[in-house]
Amino acid sequence: MRILLVEDDLMIGQSLKKVLKTHVVNWVEDTFAAERTIGVESYDLILLDLGLPKRSGIEYLTQLRATGNTTPVLIITARDGIEDRVKGLDSGADDYLLKPFAIDELEARIRALTRRKENRSNPVIEYAGTSLDPASYTMTYKNVSERLSVRAFGIMQTLIENPGVIFSRNQLEEKVYGWNDEVESNAVEVHIHMIRRKFGSEIILNVRGVGYTFPKMQTTK
Ligand code: CA
Repeated sequence: MRILLVEDDLMIGQSLKKVLKTHVVNWVEDTFAAERTIGVESYDLILLDLGLPKRSGIEYLTQLRATGNTTPVLIITARDGIEDRVKGLDSGADDYLLKPFAIDELEARIRALTRRKENRSNPVIEYAGTSLDPASYTMTYKNVSERLSVRAFGIMQTLIENPGVIFSRNQLEEKVYGWNDEVESNAVEVHIHMIRRKFGSEIILNVRGVGYTFPKMQTTK
């Protein structure tokens, strides 16, 4: 899952990045940086602090919703006044969590919010006989069902949602890793190798010197 964390407290930001390691977490420290990345990348969830420099979380959230963006927002805040919570929910937040919070609870809230989001649309992604279930990170192809790692699933999702489009290694890397994640130089190849070993090499085409693609005309007969 791709999460945008908007948090100006360095200790909280660093520890959240660490504990949410099964997700792709991009971390910004103010709402203007959040606005910039939201304009060019898509996220499954925004974790939003309220007390932020330059512009408050509430102001940002109000503006985000005004532009029609429906990404689920979970407010994480130390403000415990009822008014602040109500204001947050009124401004378009989906849920809130008071600091300090237990990581288990944060994970549970994240799951609940993204379930809610997935229920709004068809959660399973399907194309040409291949299906991906984001709820369980499971991929199915020709009667083979396997659970993939988060990164491998992200690579597959990117390819299958854009059949016939060739993605370079760097483009795939950007899709499935956060900005500050340490990425081994051949990480994408390793994930692709693993996917091919499980489902057959025809599942992802390697366009030599250019990148990878999910073949558009693939049939399952
Ligand atoms: Ca803060």
